[in-house]
Amino acid sequence: MIRRSRGWTASWSLWQAPKAVRLVVLLVCVVAAGTSLSTAFLVPVERGDLTHFAVLVVCAVIAIELTRHIERRRVYGHSSSVAYIDTKAVWSFAAVIVLPPVFATAMVVFTYLHSWIRVQHEGQGLVYRWVFSCATVLCGTQAAVAVLALGMQNYPGVPASAELAGLSDLAVIVLAAVLRWAINMGLVMVAIALSKPTVTVRDLFANFGEQLLEAGAMGLGLVAAVVVVTNPFVLPGIVIAMVALHRGILVSQYQQASRVDAKTGLATAGWWHDFADQSLARARDRNETLGLLIVDLDHFKRLNDTYGHPYGDQVLKAVADELIAEIRDEDACGRWGGEEFVVVLPAVGGAQNLHNVAERIRRRILSVVVQPPAHATAGPPPSVSASVGGAIYPSDGIGTIDELLLAADTALYAAKNSGRNTVRLSGSDVRRTDPVDQLEEPPPATT
Ligand code: GH3
Ligand code: MG
Ligand code: MG
Repeated sequence: MIRRSRGWTASWSLWQAPKAVRLVVLLVCVVAAGTSLSTAFLVPVERGDLTHFAVLVVCAVIAIELTRHIERRRVYGHSSSVAYIDTKAVWSFAAVIVLPPVFATAMVVFTYLHSWIRVQHEGQGLVYRWVFSCATVLCGTQAAVAVLALGMQNYPGVPASAELAGLSDLAVIVLAAVLRWAINMGLVMVAIALSKPTVTVRDLFANFGEQLLEAGAMGLGLVAAVVVVTNPFVLPGIVIAMVALHRGILVSQYQQASRVDAKTGLATAGWWHDFADQSLARARDRNETLGLLIVDLDHFKRLNDTYGHPYGDQVLKAVADELIAEIRDEDACGRWGGEEFVVVLPAVGGAQNLHNVAERIRRRILSVVVQPPAHATAGPPPSVSASVGGAIYPSDGIGTIDELLLAADTALYAAKNSGRNTVRLSGSDVRRTDPVDQLEEPPPATT
């Protein structure tokens, strides 16, 4: 019997998740089902409830359909170490306020089911994650039901409009919204932390700005609750507001993606080039200098070949962190290409100053230590070094950022040719630094 019942569930990716995650998922599902059942008969269903529910369902379907393409792009670009936030709460929170709990539960399940079929399923969603998200929202929803049932005057229904009673209802609704959000988010974060032991608290809250979306959705949910009862013909206004909200989110996500390199957190090459262009124009106007450095990691291919690409990525991130730590606020550091970084330094002073900064960066990179993966050869972590080429404005024959880049690149080439792990500045007679800390050969890769 047990064997047969596991037959159709055997392919579930839940079974591949760590044991603690499986336990939490199952526990939350049981609690969600139990609490949903226990609130289901708390309030009797009245005649108009089914109509209001149907109107909200129609609006939810239209809103999910109109934002489907945007949501799908968000699902693809979503990091699995942060909670995924969307606006389905508009409809389920409206239902929680004006409809009996059984409809509030049905609305959560319906919106999750619909968006699974139309958005997540074709994306990269995993069934158990979707079931878990639905279950966490159900837990939050039942807590909200309890708060509203205890505190709201005409629960379920429109909040009172008399002064004191209205304010008191509003406070109760805000409390219910906060509780619903906290339970949902808390459970999702626990599951992420358990399934990804390396995730940091900072990672978990990395998209905290997006929580505003959840708050906005519940705010609109409150408006939708009142409108569906008093004048459902106004509801399309809310649907339009939601579509506009989604477009706004996508635009800001694209802006962020065009500014920040996902792997290192540094500026992207495009953004950095624009910034460097503007810095050069300012330097020209103010009669100031402008320094530019290109930092290229030494024998990086060898590091990748020996320890693997993901390890190489960790090294890139560690080097990027050191670069950020070394430069001033007014400087800008970008990822120019694979393992090449660029730094622009406004008002850097003379060539000797630029050389000193480059030298500090070179030494700092030497201190980068990233533990190799467990399956790699035993032994000390490999040393990381970089060659740095620099150029300064004003210099002969340099009038644009691209000319400054070319000069720095030529200096970098000279640094590579003179043994790597060294700094060279273009056309400058500042003190040369010979490679002091020789690179260790990485140990051979294990097979
Ligand atoms: P050199 O000292 O002459 O700079 O040698 P190198 O091996 O660093 O130089 P080369 O330009 O030949 O190789 C750069 C390597 O960087 C090749 C590529 O595998 C690796 N690389 C490029 N982008 C990434 C990335 O995003 N992640 C990782 N892990 N490696 C990358
Ligand atoms: Mg290199
Ligand atoms: Mg290179």
